[in-house]
Amino acid sequence: MDPMNADLPPGARLSVPAYALDRADYAPSAPIAPEGATVSAVAPESPAWDAGIEPGMVVTTVNGSALDDMITWLWESDDDEVDLVVYDPRDQTSTPCTLERYPGEDWGIEFDGAIFDAMRTCVNACVFCFMTMLPPGSRDSLSIRDDDYRLSFLQGNFVTLTNMTDEDVDRVIRLDLSPMNVSLHAVTPAVRRRVMGKNEHRGIEVLERLMDAGIEIHAQIVLCPGINDGEELDRTLAYCEAHEQITSLGIVPLGFTRHQKRFKTSYSDDPDAARQVIEQVRPYQLRALERFGRHTFQMSDEFYLDAGIEVPPASWYDGYPQYYDGIGMIRSYLDDTAALLANHRSRLAAIGRAMAVNGLALAVVSGTSAASTVGNLVEAPELGGTVIAIRNDYFGGNVDVTGLICACDLLEQLPGNLVNVVLILPSVMFNSDGLTLDGYHGDDIRRELERRGARVHIASTMPFELADTLEHALGLCGPGQSVKEQRV
Ligand code: SF4
Repeated sequence: MDPMNADLPPGARLSVPAYALDRADYAPSAPIAPEGATVSAVAPESPAWDAGIEPGMVVTTVNGSALDDMITWLWESDDDEVDLVVYDPRDQTSTPCTLERYPGEDWGIEFDGAIFDAMRTCVNACVFCFMTMLPPGSRDSLSIRDDDYRLSFLQGNFVTLTNMTDEDVDRVIRLDLSPMNVSLHAVTPAVRRRVMGKNEHRGIEVLERLMDAGIEIHAQIVLCPGINDGEELDRTLAYCEAHEQITSLGIVPLGFTRHQKRFKTSYSDDPDAARQVIEQVRPYQLRALERFGRHTFQMSDEFYLDAGIEVPPASWYDGYPQYYDGIGMIRSYLDDTAALLANHRSRLAAIGRAMAVNGLALAVVSGTSAASTVGNLVEAPELGGTVIAIRNDYFGGNVDVTGLICACDLLEQLPGNLVNVVLILPSVMFNSDGLTLDGYHGDDIRRELERRGARVHIASTMPFELADTLEHALGLCGPGQSVKEQRV
């Protein structure tokens, strides 16, 4: 049906000149809200509260500057007085106000998100782009290709720098937005073009400007067999070695799903190749240690799993600068497990006893790659639980991490009878809206698993957090007490 005439009586049609249908300047029925940061929360008795600011209002300017992102907010509000203009959508008015605070006092205002104008999207065509490997019918939000330098500084996202304007670069340098997380992948232009697409040169140009200005860089390589490995990897490692501003370089293997035709294998299918890469990087690690007292060049956990080699000790991870890139998670988990077993054995035993007395069994869900690591704690005699490794059929390929477990695989592979099972679902499976990657809400999953008899907890499966969850679930903690709080 013609939407323009949808609400008219049968047979009636609006008479609209043809040219008007292409115009974008129709008068809106209500004034358009100005751009700015939508207030999501205001703390009682705070300066923002005193000024009458409420959730849902929009802060449009701060000290006369448009409030376009959290960087502007943090920069402009770093004083004890700040001038705002606040838009109230209820009466469509904009009101100036001044907030004042005591030294060190919080403004008491939270915003929805970190970027308040348009997100910068990527201008690349990476061969390994996960967005091009999604199953048909995936949620639209999964295929948003953000590549916004502001999220590198604010949230640690890796960015390619290929879409930055000169003004953006000037801003990073002027505000000293350091460190930045940068996807490097390769250094030879032809190889970079093959890996990232035709805009690769801008990325290197910007990277070198930032490094010349003293911005610290955490870099990353997604290593694709036959594309940027071998001699090109040596060239990239040498480039990083020559640039002291690059204080860490994370090397992660190509991951691929079954919903593409380009890749059929990666290091996950070739332990020798994984071992060779680990060996190739070692001299760079040792030289960096000698020069700077840090290893700088870091292999992702997957390389060690693929190679069948034990992950190195914590000291090799230089304080885990690339933890959220999957570098050092296994070492950290193993060390936390060892600390928990060494210092809290009796408390873990109390959890195990309470489970047994109540006729309960513990089961913790994991991706297949992390199952044996998580088993070190869950299957220890004190807890006597089981790890249930979920195979990722939704994405297929070599996808095996816990954070990408989908509800369809989970519900399909968990047993039909979960009576008296305390079932821990890793919270990393869910986004901030409580959704899995295939679009199921945690509440619906919980309902289905409770129908099978499980006592479901969506929680972190990190050792201390897991013990904490179990203690609370079993009523073993007094208010304010937890294993985590007693961590040594
Ligand atoms: S930068 Fe590359 S991997 Fe990231 S979204 Fe863009 S094309 Fe995909």
